[in-house]
Amino acid sequence: MTVYLVGAGPGDPGLLTRRAAALLVRADAVVYDRLVDPAVLSLARPGAELVDVGKRPGPGAPPGAESQRAINDLLVDMGHRVDVVVRLKGGDPFVFGRGGEEAEALSAAGVRWEVVPGVSSALAVPALAGIPVTHRGVATSFTVVTGQVGSRKSSEGSDPVPGGGREREEDWRRLAGLEGTLVVLMGVAARAELAAGLIEGGRRPDTPVTVIERGATPAQRVVRTTLAELPTVALDPPAVVVIGPAAAMDLTLGAPNAPNAPNAPNAPNALAPLAGVTVVVTRPRHQAGSLADALSAAGARVLLVPATEIEGPSDGGKALAHAAAAAAGYDWVAFTSANAVERFVPLMRDGRDLAGVRLAVVGQGTQDALTRHRLVADLSPGLSAGPGAAGLVSCFPDPPPGGGTVLWPCAEGAGDALAAGLTARGWRVDQVAAYRTVAAAPPPVAVADALAGAQAVVFAAPSAVRAYVAMSGPDGEPVPVPPVVVCIGPTTASTARDLGLVVAAEPPTPSPDALLESLRTALAGVLAATPRPAAEPEPQPDSP
Ligand code: SAH
Repeated sequence: MTVYLVGAGPGDPGLLTRRAAALLVRADAVVYDRLVDPAVLSLARPGAELVDVGKRPGPGAPPGAESQRAINDLLVDMGHRVDVVVRLKGGDPFVFGRGGEEAEALSAAGVRWEVVPGVSSALAVPALAGIPVTHRGVATSFTVVTGQVGSRKSSEGSDPVPGGGREREEDWRRLAGLEGTLVVLMGVAARAELAAGLIEGGRRPDTPVTVIERGATPAQRVVRTTLAELPTVALDPPAVVVIGPAAAMDLTLGAPNAPNAPNAPNAPNALAPLAGVTVVVTRPRHQAGSLADALSAAGARVLLVPATEIEGPSDGGKALAHAAAAAAGYDWVAFTSANAVERFVPLMRDGRDLAGVRLAVVGQGTQDALTRHRLVADLSPGLSAGPGAAGLVSCFPDPPPGGGTVLWPCAEGAGDALAAGLTARGWRVDQVAAYRTVAAAPPPVAVADALAGAQAVVFAAPSAVRAYVAMSGPDGEPVPVPPVVVCIGPTTASTARDLGLVVAAEPPTPSPDALLESLRTALAGVLAATPRPAAEPEPQPDSP
C-alpha cells in the first residue's frame, strides 16, 4: 500500500509525466484538488474511486470543503487500506501544494509514500505564453513566490491570521531588490499590494508584467501590462503573474506557426487548429489512444468518456476457441473489427494454422490490428468499393465450384450483414461471436461536470452512440451531448440521427486527418459563441 504524491502538471494531459500517467491507470483511488483538469482525471482507471478534496476558500465554500488536516487524515486512512492511492495535485506537489505536509503526515503514521514530481505552473505557464523565465541578456535568475507573501499563520499553522496589508507590502519591498524574473502564484487577489510594495521597493512602475490565466488549458488568457497598471486590470484566478524584463517577451510571435508570422499558413495556429476546444472521445479506453493523441496533437483538450467497453462473448469464448481450432479448414477468415482480430488471432497455436487460409479485412483499424500480428490481408476493399460489409461483399471473389467457406469472427449481436451478403453470393459463412460490446460505467463526477463545457463529441461506432445517449451522470440526468457531433462511418451517423442527434460531420474516412479536418470545419461557428468558464476562487494562504 502506497500513497503517491503526484504532480498533475498545469492542465494539459500532455504535460503529465509518464510516471504520473502510468499511476493514474493503476490507481485504486485518486484524491484530487480543484486545480486538476478534468481531462487529466478522465485518464484514471475506470472503477477507481475519485475523491474531490478541492478546497474552495472564502464565504461560498461548499460543505465538502476540507481542511488540510482532514486531507492528511484521509490520506493516512486510505494509505492503510488501499493498495494504490494517487494524491493528485496541480503542477508540482511540493510547489505551494502542501505536498510536503502530506508527506510528513504519512511518514508520521508509518504509511509508505512516494513523490512523483510534476511540471509546475510556475515555469510551464509562462513558457506556453512565450516567456522564458531566464533568457541570455534579459534575466539570469527567477524567483517563485506566493501572492500570500507575508501572511501570518496561527500557531496551528493552518489558519491564516488576517495579515495587515502594510506587513505584506513590506515583504514585497524586500522582494523588489531581487534581480531577474519574479513569478507570483496565487497573486490575483494581492495584486494591488504586490504592485505597490514592489514599486516602493524600487522597481520601476513601467516594469513589464504578464499575467496568464488558466495556462495550458483551452481557456488560457494572456494579459500584458505594467507594474503600475497591474492593480487595475481585470483578472480571474488561477493565474500566474510574471514580473520583470522577461515578461515583455513573447517567443510565440517569432514562431512560423504564429498567427501574425509572415509565413504563417492561413489557420489561426496551423499547428494547433483545435486549440481552445474540448472534445469528448467515446471509444473504449484501450482503443481511444490514437484518436485522443491525434486530437491532442491538434491542440484539443480531450475528455475520455468511454461509452462502451469490450468484454468476452457470453459463452465465455467457447465457440470462438472451437472455430479457431478449425480455422485451417476455411477458405477465408473475414475480420470487420480490430477487436475481432485481437480476440481471434492469439488463439492460433502457430502461424501455420492460417497457412492456407486467406484473410479479408474491412477498415483501417482492422488492417492495423492484423499488421500488429504480422499478418497480411489478401483482400481489403478500397474506398471505391463502398463502406463496411457491403464494400467487402461487392469485391469478394466467387466461391470455387464445389462451394467455399468463410469464418467471420465478429461482435456478439453484430447483425448478419456480411454473412447474408456472402451467403447470397454462394459462400457458406460461419459467424462466431469473438467479443461483446457492453455499456461502460458512467464517468466520475468531475469528468461528467466538465462535459457541459465540451464543444464536440466523436462517435466511432453505433454502439457508442446508443450507450452515450443512454448514459446518465451522477445527478441521474442524461449526460449532455456537446453541440458538435462527429460520427465516423455512415452506420454510426445514421444511428445518431435515429436517436435525434444532429450530426455535424461525417468524416469520409476513419483517418485522423479526415476527422480533424471535419471537426475544424464543423466547429468554426460554435467556437466564436462559446462563453468563458466561470472564474476559480483564489486559494487562501493555507489552501493552494
Ligand atoms: N503546485 C502548483 C501550484 C499550486 S498554488 C504548481 O506547481 O503549479 C496554485 C496557484 O498555481 C494558482 O493560484 C495559480 O497561481 C497557479 N496555477 C496553477 N495552475 C495554473 C494554470 N493552469 N494557469 C495559471 N496558473 C496556475
